[in-house]
Amino acid sequence: MLMPNLRPSPISPTVDFDADGVQHGFLRLPYSRDDSAWGSVMIPVCVIRNGEGPTALLTGGNHGDEYEGPLALYDLARTLDPKDVSGTVIIVPAMNYPAFRAGTRTSPIDKGNMNRSFPGRPDGTVTEKIADYFQRHLLPRADIVLDFHSGGRTLDFLPFCAAHVLPDKEQEQKAFAAVAAFSAPYSMRMIEIDTVGMYDTAAEEMGKVFVTTELGGGGTSRAETVRIARRGTLNVLRHAGIVSGAVEKTPTRWLDMPSGDCFSFAEDDGLIETMIDLGESVEAGQVVARIHSVGRTGGAPQEIRATMSGVLAARHFPGLVKAGDCAAVLAVVE
Ligand SMILES: [Zn+2]
Repeated sequence: MLMPNLRPSPISPTVDFDADGVQHGFLRLPYSRDDSAWGSVMIPVCVIRNGEGPTALLTGGNHGDEYEGPLALYDLARTLDPKDVSGTVIIVPAMNYPAFRAGTRTSPIDKGNMNRSFPGRPDGTVTEKIADYFQRHLLPRADIVLDFHSGGRTLDFLPFCAAHVLPDKEQEQKAFAAVAAFSAPYSMRMIEIDTVGMYDTAAEEMGKVFVTTELGGGGTSRAETVRIARRGTLNVLRHAGIVSGAVEKTPTRWLDMPSGDCFSFAEDDGLIETMIDLGESVEAGQVVARIHSVGRTGGAPQEIRATMSGVLAARHFPGLVKAGDCAAVLAVVE
């Protein structure tokens, strides 16, 4: 176990998180490089505060190729009136800003995956420095955290809002109440392949109410998934008592990921044929996807069979897969 490194963060915010009103500014991170000797990475941040009350921390662009969060959050930063707020809303629409500008999941500077970089390091890579700032400066301010994801270039998801099963059942119940308020078409009790280094885990270990989403994918967004993101953001803020007005509840279908058996992986390179579409039902043993060899004709495809009965919650997006790619994710209807 490393000793905690208490060196200060190199990031300077150009906003005052304790000032009332609307502020549009930056988290300025010095980044010396060939084309800018004393340059900085300028991560956009907006703070909307109106007096005492709870604080919501809203983030998009944790992965740079996922767009519903940034679309909803740039929009919210432009339109939310502090008169309608009680407390503080901190908006970072593009958390891994270098990755977001490059349109890639990870940072082009250091290949850092923001959601595997927590708790970060003040003396680490650019991505680790951003993570460290969230870990030590932004997360501690928050009562509720909403972090937007979708599938990015390589996955496509059913539109869902999610929280994790947690050891602290009171904290877990608060997170699922916020998921219900978000009112996505699907609500997920989610498990992760690999929780080490996740922003989710960092927030949850601090006892925060943490809510996330998967709202589509393919390296783009759709009109419907952006509408879901906009409505869900306001609903979570209303639920938290930060924005006035009633939660606009719409029907949701609860899904559960009971174990790691939900995930299926390609065992060979090839051409993927998904045999059912997102949201369609599947019985245990049914073929969910086939992977066809392309090097020569005549070979039998690799069949990926459902390990449980449920619905298809996510699928590989591009037509070609490599061995080890996540091919499909199943979820059980509650
Ligand atoms: Zn993501």
